[in-house]
Amino acid sequence: MNRFSYSKPQQVTDAIQQLSDTGRFIAGGTNLLDLMKENVARPDQLVDINALPLREIETTQAGGLHIGALVKNSTVAYHPDVERVYPLLSQAILAGASAQLRNMASTGGNLLQRTRCYYFYDIGTPCNKREPGSGCGALNGQNRIHAVLGHNDQCIAVHPSDMAVALAALEASVHVSGPEGDRVIPMSEFHRLPGDTPHLDTNLGQHELITAVELPPRGFAENYAYVKIRDRASYAFALVSVAAALELNGDNIGTARIALGGVAHKPWRKPEAEALLAGKPATEENFRAAAELLMQGAQGFEHNSFKIELAKRAIVRALSEAASGVNAK
Ligand code: SF4
Repeated sequence: MNRFSYSKPQQVTDAIQQLSDTGRFIAGGTNLLDLMKENVARPDQLVDINALPLREIETTQAGGLHIGALVKNSTVAYHPDVERVYPLLSQAILAGASAQLRNMASTGGNLLQRTRCYYFYDIGTPCNKREPGSGCGALNGQNRIHAVLGHNDQCIAVHPSDMAVALAALEASVHVSGPEGDRVIPMSEFHRLPGDTPHLDTNLGQHELITAVELPPRGFAENYAYVKIRDRASYAFALVSVAAALELNGDNIGTARIALGGVAHKPWRKPEAEALLAGKPATEENFRAAAELLMQGAQGFEHNSFKIELAKRAIVRALSEAASGVNAK
C-alpha cells in the first residue's frame, strides 16, 4: 500500500477544502480499502468524513425522507420509516453484502462503490476503467458477470450496488456539496454509461461530496419487489436484479417503475417499458411485453448471453410479486 496523509475534519466545507486533486474521501472504507490494498486505488491523501454531521434520517417538508450520507446501510434498512414507506429499499439493501459490511458501509459510499469486474482488480491486466487507454480485458475474457445493456468496446462492467437499483426505481435524488456550492442530482443521472470515459462511474465532480440521499413521498409500500438472481444465496453480487414498484387501480396498473441491476454500468430503466404497463391489467402477458421492451437491444458476450433471458424472467417475476402484494406488511 502507498503512503498517504490522513485528516478528519468536522465540517463539510473543511472536508471539501482539504481534499487534494489526488486525495479521496473515506467513510466506511468497505470498498476503498480493498482497492488500496490491491493497488487499484493509490490516493496520497485520505479525508475521513466520519466526523461530519451527515447521520440524520428525517422527513422532508414535501413528505419524503432525507437520509444523511453517513447513515449506515443497516440503519437505513431497519429504520421504521424506511420499512413502512420504502420497504423496497429495505429489501434491496438486505439483499446486498453481509451483515458486517452493511454495518460499516455508508449510504454515500454504497453509491460510489466500484465495479467487481475481475480485470479491474487485477493490475496485471488491461482495464480502461483503472488505466484509461489500456484496453478491456473482459471483452474477450471471463465476462460472465458483465453488462448486456449500455456497454461499448471501452468497458462492459456493471455497477454492483443493490441499494442504487431500488433508489433508481423510487426516483431518489442525490444531494452533493462542492467548491461551487450545493446541487441535487436525480438518481437517473448520477451514474454514467461508459461512453469514452469508462474510468468515470458517476457525474459527481472530483471535489464534490455526497451529503444525502432524498426519497420522494411515494414509496410503493403495497406493491413492490426486489428480485436478485445470484450464484450464491447470500454475500454475492447480482447476476441480474430487478426493483419493481407498482401502483394499482383495482386490477389495472396506474404507475409502474422497473429498475435493473447487474446488466449495465448503471441502474437500468426504460420509461417506455413502464409507460407500456400504465392503464393495463397486471397480467403475466403484459409483464412479459414490458420485459421484452426493457431488454430491447441487449447484447451479450461469450459467457453472459444467458443474462438476457434471465433478466426477462426476473422482470416478470418481480412484477408478478409486486402486483400480488405478497411483500406488503
Ligand atoms: Fe476494465 Fe471495464 Fe473492461 Fe472490466 S469491463 S476490464 S472494468 S474496462
